[in-house]
Parts: sequence; C-alpha cells; structure tokens
Amino acid sequence: MDLFEYQGKRYFARFGIPVSPGGTADTVEEALAAADAAGYPVVVKAQVQVGGRGKAGGIKLAATPDEVRAHAGAILGMDIKGHRVKRLWLEHATDIEKEYYVSFTLDRGARAHLGMVSARGGVDIEQVAVDEPEAIARAHIDPSVGLTEHVARRMVEEAGLEVDARDGAIGIMLNLYRCYVEGDADLVEINPLVLATDGRVLALDAKVTLDDNAAFRHPEWDQFRDLDELDERERLARSKGLQYVGLDGDVGIIANGAGLAMSTCDVVNQVGGRPANFLDIGGGASAEVMANALDVINSDHNVKAIFINIFGGITRGEDVANGIVTALGRVDIAAPMVIRLDGTNAEAGREILRTVESDQVLSRPTMLEAARTAVELARARTAGPGDRADLAGSTS
Ligand code: GDP
Ligand code: MN
Repeated sequence: MDLFEYQGKRYFARFGIPVSPGGTADTVEEALAAADAAGYPVVVKAQVQVGGRGKAGGIKLAATPDEVRAHAGAILGMDIKGHRVKRLWLEHATDIEKEYYVSFTLDRGARAHLGMVSARGGVDIEQVAVDEPEAIARAHIDPSVGLTEHVARRMVEEAGLEVDARDGAIGIMLNLYRCYVEGDADLVEINPLVLATDGRVLALDAKVTLDDNAAFRHPEWDQFRDLDELDERERLARSKGLQYVGLDGDVGIIANGAGLAMSTCDVVNQVGGRPANFLDIGGGASAEVMANALDVINSDHNVKAIFINIFGGITRGEDVANGIVTALGRVDIAAPMVIRLDGTNAEAGREILRTVESDQVLSRPTMLEAARTAVELARARTAGPGDRADLAGSTS
C-alpha cells in the first residue's frame, strides 16, 4: 500500500523523524483553517500518489490567506499525471538552505537492505542516478546487524552533505531505518530532506510503501486505506471483509477460492456473458459470509443474475447448502440466482437446495451449465419481459 505524503509524514513522526506541523484540507475553507493552525507562511501541497508535483504546479508557497485561497482553489481538482487532486496538505513553510535525498528499500538481488543518500536532493533522483551515479552514496545493510551510526556517518560523508547537516541527517537515517524495518515498509524515501537556514534538518516530503503482507500486525494501518478511491460496492465488500473487485458486467459472481472465482469469471465470458464482479468468499461458506456476499451483490444495480459457484473441499456440501438456505432466509435477492455446488458431499447439498428451488433459485450440476443459465437469465432480464421469446405472441 502506497501512502500519501500526509500519511507518510504522520508515519515518520511516530518514529521520531522531524516534519513540519500541518494539516489536510479538502476544501478552500479547510485550507484556510489548516494554514492558520500551521502558521504562515505555508506551503500548499497536492496529495496525489505521483512524483513531480512541484513541477506540475501542485506545490505553492503562500504568505497570506488570500494566497492560500488562490492556490488551494487552483490545486484542488487539478489533474496531475492522471491523478485528480481531492486533498491538500498544508504545512508551515521551511526556509531551505540545502535539499538532500535519503531512502531505504530492499535490494532483492543482493538479499539485503539498500540505503541511499545524496546531496543532490529535491530533484528527480532517477536522473541523478543516470547522470551522476557517484553523487549517490549507497550501502547494503545486513538485516541481522541493522543500520549502525558508523555506517550512516560514512554515507553522509561520502555523499558530501554539509558538515552542519550531518548529525541531524544521521539521526533521521537511524529513525528512518527503524520506520522501514519496524514499520514494515518496502520503501521509505525522503526527497527532499532539508537543511533549513536555522540549522534544523527535517523531512519536507515523504514516500512510504507499506508491505501489505504485514498488515495483520498493524491494525493502525486501517486509517491509511483511502476508501474514497473505492467504488460503493468495493467499500461495502471491504467493510464486510470480503475479497471483491467490481467489474462492469451484469452477472454477479460468488465463488469460494480466488482461483475458482477467476475461472467463474472466465466461464461466464466464454458463454457470452459479462461478470459484474469477482468475489471470493474464501474456504468456508457459512450463512453469515453468504448473506454478506449477497448484500454486496445486491448493492450492484447492474446485476441481472447471480451465479454462486462453490466447490466443497474441506467444507462439505451439506454445510454449504445450509449456509445458502439460511442466507436466503435473511437476504432478499435482487436477481435470479443459479447455484452450482460440487465437491465433497455435493449430492447431499443439492438435496438440501431443492427445498428452496424456484424460478428465482436454480441449481445446475456443472459450472458450464450454471454459467449458461445465469447468462441466459441476465440476457432475458436485460431485454425486458415484453421482448422475451417465450412470451412472444401471448398478447395477440
Ligand atoms: P514532489 O515534487 O512531488 O517531489 O514534491 P515535494 O514535496 O518534494 O516538493 C517539491 C519541492 O517544493 C521541494 O523540492 C522544495 O524545493 C519545494 N518545497 C516543498 N516544501 C517547501 C517549503 O516548506 N519551503 C520551500 N521554500 N520550498 C518547499
Ligand atoms: Mn519530493
């Protein structure tokens, strides 16, 4: 998960890395309040997950409320390399003496962490790496040893940081390395790390990529999930803990296991239909999970038919069928449903499903037949009852 600058700075602050005081704003009014709180002069910064915001006009200094109003108004809604600006970060502006670069990331080839420091900060570091590779001091860090003060000092000396900035930079590097390891990041980058005219060294930008595999031990990461980026269906699915990806077809899909859910999407396509979503309910198929999945499918108004595709492995067919029957008692389905149940004790499960079968709830023994039925149902409902072939002529 990539963090926005304001989130990255909050993460940095937890590890003792100095950043400027500031706040977020989604409107011009909020920007004025955030500027007041940060203290003038301020810098108004577009929050998008892409570099080069400065060059694109997404970062402006403001000395007065009028300037904040003008810049905030211009930057909100701006398009920066395909990213629409919905949020600003305003912080107290720093008088910059020098801009540096520092980062830690994983060098998979070397099986070690890689630290980089440069006195050519603030600019495109990839370009520096090409034009002047010697301007970047690099060090591999053995994870079992960690970053020592000795190594950090050697790096800032080799990179040629101003003598006045070295102690501050070393302190920040040690904390940034902790943020990278203890904070379970794949990448932490400060560009620019600055030496201010008053002698302080601090982070003016923050790029943090968290390792999603470590999310289980960081409940606090939930605050970083930008739910605004998700559509309504995905937001609902996430709040219910379901693995869901919204698509733009009309056959709602529920399957157990990511592989089966993907195959289900493929089979629906193969028989000429279009999946409305990918939804993996995981190994089991309890009434609770099934009801949640149906709620999410119901929230998608494009869904014209529902296809439940369950392969009982460890979960037995009777349990799956009972889960579906109970869920149907709790949730009103918004579209007809086709169930394909196979695997362990499938026949016993289908026997149970027979008790709820109707023209709205159908059961088919194979995946292909079930897909065909679901796609036909969706098509018939899209065409509208008046156009249905089986009704043609019935009014004349
Ligand atoms: P990026 O262009 O997306 O990497 O955004 P940055 O946050 O790195 O900002 C770009 C540039 O804006 C920096 O390299 C600085 O030169 C300038 N800048 C950012 N914050 C301040 C500040 O507080 N004071 C001043 N004078 N310049 C700033
Ligand atoms: Mn930057």
